[in-house]
Amino acid sequence: MIKSIIFDLDDTLYDFTSAHAFAMKRLMAYVRANLGLDDERFDALNREALNRQKQRLGSCAALHNRLIRYQMLLEAAGKPIAHAPEMEALYWSTLLERIRPTHGAIETLGSLRLSGYTIGIGTNMTANWQYAKLKRLGLMAYVDYIVTSEEAGVEKPAPELFLLCAEKAGCAPAECAFVGDSLESDALGARDAGLAAYWFNPSADPVDVPEGIRRIRAFSELPALLENA
Ligand SMILES: [Mg+2]
Repeated sequence: MIKSIIFDLDDTLYDFTSAHAFAMKRLMAYVRANLGLDDERFDALNREALNRQKQRLGSCAALHNRLIRYQMLLEAAGKPIAHAPEMEALYWSTLLERIRPTHGAIETLGSLRLSGYTIGIGTNMTANWQYAKLKRLGLMAYVDYIVTSEEAGVEKPAPELFLLCAEKAGCAPAECAFVGDSLESDALGARDAGLAAYWFNPSADPVDVPEGIRRIRAFSELPALLENA
């Protein structure tokens, strides 16, 4: 029997992809005006900085740290690093201003909690921005526990992150359901760690769903599926 449901945050409980694109546009306008770098140059520098971060750090939460990424970008461009915190703050304030909960997310989390499930968040990211997003989305009141990759020390799909979620839920992994948009990081990772895996994929296109994974196209499908799990 499922007792606790853990949600991925980015591109699951809100549309990260479009909010990110909007925030990057605003950041590029800042970079053009203050650093004299055109969009193409900024894009190349940003990708190089991310690649260097990946080479140095491997897979860990610090990879998502934009203050470090923009500092590295400015160093490579020979520009003052004083812009790094300004750029980071602009990116996040724009993204936070832009985000809205996924259709049906608030209603579903509310109804799942009323049905007696506890609700967790399992996310690859640093903790401070995930708290800020949950607050901005109005979801904090529905969340019983959070596991970020910054806390777990590994990123999904590593099993340790999923097992830490189950530990916080006070349940066996098989008594936890995990819901997320990434097939590899969320659904396969959760399944392989022994949790019930729900792949949130709202696309209208037919998709191949690997064994042991259930696909949902809308949050409203969840309560009935979990009842029969
Ligand atoms: Mg995601």
